[in-house]
Amino acid sequence: MGFCFFNNVAIAARYGQRRHGLQRVLIVDWDVHHGNGTQQAFYDDPSVLFFSTHQFPHYPGTGRATECGEGAGAGLTVNVPMSPGQGDEDYREVFERVLVPAADRFKPDFVVISAGFDAHRDDPLAGMALTEEGYASLSRIVLAIANRHCRGRVLSCLEGGYHLQALAASVERHLLAMVEA
Ligand SMILES: [Zn+2]
Repeated sequence: MGFCFFNNVAIAARYGQRRHGLQRVLIVDWDVHHGNGTQQAFYDDPSVLFFSTHQFPHYPGTGRATECGEGAGAGLTVNVPMSPGQGDEDYREVFERVLVPAADRFKPDFVVISAGFDAHRDDPLAGMALTEEGYASLSRIVLAIANRHCRGRVLSCLEGGYHLQALAASVERHLLAMVEA
């Protein structure tokens, strides 16, 4: 239901597991749209922790907090629906209160970011209020998780972002945070 034929992040997670023996993969999806395909791919999989923040209600309509995995994967899908207008401080609080403890319990061997920048306040497709500085702050939280658990092993995959200047500025801040980590 996204704008893609192949789920790059899901493929990367499996590739890391099968080719590089990285058993536990954390996927952090801060794209403004819920990562419904990624969630579906790993919904009952205990080897992948999927964490998503997304505007809700919004396309594609999934991503309620009650969607939290099933079977062996129960508890390893973590959805945090965000209300339109929420911004840097709200996201940072969610990442620190929800993502960090879940990731520290899970102890990932590999971290993959679904790095969509369409929750930026200037983005025309959604109604969130993140700034490029907010994205830098989220980046630093995720990088610190990777540094604690897997020697900084992070793969970041560009996803949404429909205001090109805001996208460029956000990507720049994200990459600088990765270089500095
Ligand atoms: Zn998106």
